[in-house]
Amino acid sequence: MKHRQLRVNELVKRELSATIAREINFEGVLVSINAVDVTPDLKSAHVFVSVLGPATGTSVIDKLEAHRPALQAELSRHVVLKYTPHLVFHLDHSIERGARVLEILQDIDKPTFEKIGKVLRDHQHFAILGHVRPDGDALGSQLALALSLEQLGKDVRVWNEDGMLEKYSFLPRAELLTKPPATAAHVDVAIALDTANQKRLGTALAAVASAKIWINIDHHLSNPGYGDLVLVDVSSPATGEIIFNLIKGQGLPFNHDIAENLYAAISTDTGSFQYPKTSARTFEIAAELVRVGGLDVGKISQQLYENYPRRRLELLRELLRTTRFGEHDRVASFSLSLRTAADLGVLPEDNEGLIDHLRAVRGVIVAVFFEELAEGKVRVSMRSKDEAVDVCAICQKFGGGGHTLAAGARIRGRLAEVEEKVLEEIHEVLKRRS
Ligand code: AMP
Ligand code: MN
Ligand code: MN
Repeated sequence: MKHRQLRVNELVKRELSATIAREINFEGVLVSINAVDVTPDLKSAHVFVSVLGPATGTSVIDKLEAHRPALQAELSRHVVLKYTPHLVFHLDHSIERGARVLEILQDIDKPTFEKIGKVLRDHQHFAILGHVRPDGDALGSQLALALSLEQLGKDVRVWNEDGMLEKYSFLPRAELLTKPPATAAHVDVAIALDTANQKRLGTALAAVASAKIWINIDHHLSNPGYGDLVLVDVSSPATGEIIFNLIKGQGLPFNHDIAENLYAAISTDTGSFQYPKTSARTFEIAAELVRVGGLDVGKISQQLYENYPRRRLELLRELLRTTRFGEHDRVASFSLSLRTAADLGVLPEDNEGLIDHLRAVRGVIVAVFFEELAEGKVRVSMRSKDEAVDVCAICQKFGGGGHTLAAGARIRGRLAEVEEKVLEEIHEVLKRRS
């Protein structure tokens, strides 16, 4: 479609929307114009209308039809065109359809939600686990579910190989989350949250050897679906969102502390509500957490994003010194050696999110962070800004996984070796694409 025609469509849409809002009372029904299509000869304009609320679509169309002469008159006054187009109103079902699709999706998962709800009610001893090198989503989701079960009178252990991180220790009831014991404890049900595969539970795995039932709640694309009850929703931007749906849907206990943990989980895993999987539903959930939980968003955000130790900035300075660009500036990477980490005295948790500085550069499609680990391996973190460049697939080639746009792997080898191998693979993927 020509640019001029698009502009005419947009002008007519804007003018009609304003006039309708001003002139017609639909009595509590939300009527909006989704699109306008003016024919090239300007003789007619097809107006696609969506209706939300207690009214039939046809009654709304009838009402618009009755106001057609007045609407056309207003249009001719405000939009200067050779002809005033004849308005033809159509019902657009796309919003309704969208809502229904969501309902259907929820219906598919409904039996699983219910089965999980029943297991939670019917058992007593739980262990809630999350992935190694945890992030806000893993820790927040673990604590939120634990607090809800605690309110139900259950015996709940909350374990993570790395224990509670200093930077997340402000989370309500953070003290509940500890490192797992070295020997197996009495556990009926093991619940893995935000964990793409069981290996990523690290040392927590052995501690739940006695579990009779495994529940796997996650949002990673690469999750193979381990466990007895599997709730992997890859459309969710955070596991925290699924935990919210579980708590709400199953009528489990909810309070301020649970809300704050879930808010932290969702805020961190959406990059502060920025990443593409952030949906209207995500904002609705966040709104409910803030409203019902009585949250202080400013305070939580400050604790999450403006409370870093000085050494994190010093680490960033060193990482920037190692920054490399390749593939015509479409790939950016930096790396951290064990030696630099020791010199700076940084903790593993200090580097979470620093990769975003690379991703934020215009033109960069793939950002990579290489971190040398003590056990002769390199931890690779990868981000993509283009759905067509699936970093999960790239990381899976090296035994890792994650999401399409954010993934990782642990690769055996020396830092420089792994860098070359991984950058070469990215080069191949980009070459195939362009
Ligand atoms: P990170 O770069 O560590 O923040 O990880 C990005 C995403 O990929 C997170 O959702 C991780 O859970 C996931 N991920 C990282 N490393 C692995 C791995 N070795 N296997 C599977 N998923 C991973
Ligand atoms: Mn995570
Ligand atoms: Mn997550």
